[in-house]
Amino acid sequence: MSSHLIFIGAPGSGKGTQASRFVAEKAYKHVSTGDLLRSEIAKGTKLGLEVKSVMDSGSLVSDDLVIKLLQANIDLVGSQYIFDGYPRNIDQAKALDSEVLKGSKSVAIYFEIDMAKLVERLTNRRTCKDCGSIYNLMFKKPKVTGVCDKCGGTNLAQRVDDKEDVIANRLKVFNDANAPVLKYYQDLGRLVIVNAESSEDQIFNLISQAV
Ligand code: AMP
Repeated sequence: MSSHLIFIGAPGSGKGTQASRFVAEKAYKHVSTGDLLRSEIAKGTKLGLEVKSVMDSGSLVSDDLVIKLLQANIDLVGSQYIFDGYPRNIDQAKALDSEVLKGSKSVAIYFEIDMAKLVERLTNRRTCKDCGSIYNLMFKKPKVTGVCDKCGGTNLAQRVDDKEDVIANRLKVFNDANAPVLKYYQDLGRLVIVNAESSEDQIFNLISQAV
């Protein structure tokens, strides 16, 4: 079996879009810590209430809480996972290896992109509230305005944290913590860098070839 994939990249760099393709075309399982946290908020759980304001501001939820949530929602036996949005800092990178993967093979894929492009990408991002499909009003519009191509849902919404004032903080938070994460995987010989400004197909092929 091939390796688990660890998708690293700034918000809006295309991790979620590629993860959906790898699930559909290569039978990976996808776990996004952002999605898990949003689902806790939507269900109104104690955890959801605890993290809502932190998430709305674009800052990071505590490491402890996120790793527990991650561990509770994956089962590595017989499955290849895509980790999306985790790790976000060096402590999480080490914890992923020592507390989750525990020796299972994994490769980190870094979605490299010019930060200036991300504000535009993020403010135009829309997510289907019913099936999670991701669109962009600039370059990946749904075929019928306001209707999800995949499930026909009519609730294509903007994430609360995709508003311009929050985006600046999310990008800063990402940049502050990311360099040591990349160095960690680079030093271990487990880092593949892809140009996240290439087309969706090109990125899919690049990652497929690399793993
Ligand atoms: P995302 O959907 O990956 O952009 O994540 C949305 C928000 O969820 C982030 O801005 C953080 O507040 C929180 N979050 C997601 N993943 C993590 C993580 N690994 N560690 C801490 N906070 C996280």
